Amino acid sequence: MGKRISRKHDTQKPPKSEYTKLVNIDKDINNGLHSAPGTFVEQLLGNQSNILPSIKYVNVGPFKVNGHIQALESLKQIMSVVKTKYPDLYGRLAHNGMHVPKNIAGKKSKSLHSWGIAIDITIDGIEDVKWNEMSFYGLALMAPIFHDHGWYWGGAFRDQETEKGSGVYWTNEDAMHFEVSKEKLLEWHNAGLLGPVSTRRPEAKIPESTRPTSTSSSSHHRSMFDWLQRGDKGPKVVRLQEALKSHGHNLKSDGNFGGKTEAALIKYQRQCGLPANGIVGPKTAAYLLFF
Ligand SMILES: [Zn+2]
Repeated sequence: MGKRISRKHDTQKPPKSEYTKLVNIDKDINNGLHSAPGTFVEQLLGNQSNILPSIKYVNVGPFKVNGHIQALESLKQIMSVVKTKYPDLYGRLAHNGMHVPKNIAGKKSKSLHSWGIAIDITIDGIEDVKWNEMSFYGLALMAPIFHDHGWYWGGAFRDQETEKGSGVYWTNEDAMHFEVSKEKLLEWHNAGLLGPVSTRRPEAKIPESTRPTSTSSSSHHRSMFDWLQRGDKGPKVVRLQEALKSHGHNLKSDGNFGGKTEAALIKYQRQCGLPANGIVGPKTAAYLLFF
């Protein structure tokens, strides 16, 4: 039995559903992904206070939550898939914390909640019980979707210390917990998406022919308007101009990236502490969408 958690606007709790029945866990679900050690995450994202500017309160679909901006973007995409595949389950989802400074239960190392890149998901307002090697059915349904987006499932946590012994042991089962995998964090880091703290790669002027294709990224905002610069034309430029207008810059949405758009963009980049180069790379695109 999980314990009920109270939520502010939860006067009518949904009745207990099949989604909270217990099922066995596919221990291979995290194949190809690894849980990132705190020391690794700190190298990319900085310490607890460094990341505060990247922590935002955002609606990801079924709920609003405080977390790292890039993880929130990914979570939004995950939730839109859940909504399509399992609409009934989607309506029963809530969370019990994303950006929560804390250590891993029973350990000294920091949980990835400390950086806002892990989330604990409840169903019908109930927490799955950890360490029983079983999972709520609804969490097991969502695990492959999280996996597709590069998130590691706590339902199949691999204890790296225990593993050094004979064979592979699975411990620390925590099925309501999902976290951004080491592989995904590296991908975001290499794409310059991890905000002001991680090492910025210069968004140099890139000839049209050699720009990264927007579709190669799983990030929605990359297809919105990144890799734009002066001289570009079209609907992506219109979206950029609309975004700049929503940030208070006076512009015409004519789809032509000219001097005025460039000047507004440079001003906006300065305000955000981004490299003020007048080019929309992935970092600038992320800021325009979320800040
Ligand atoms: Zn957790």
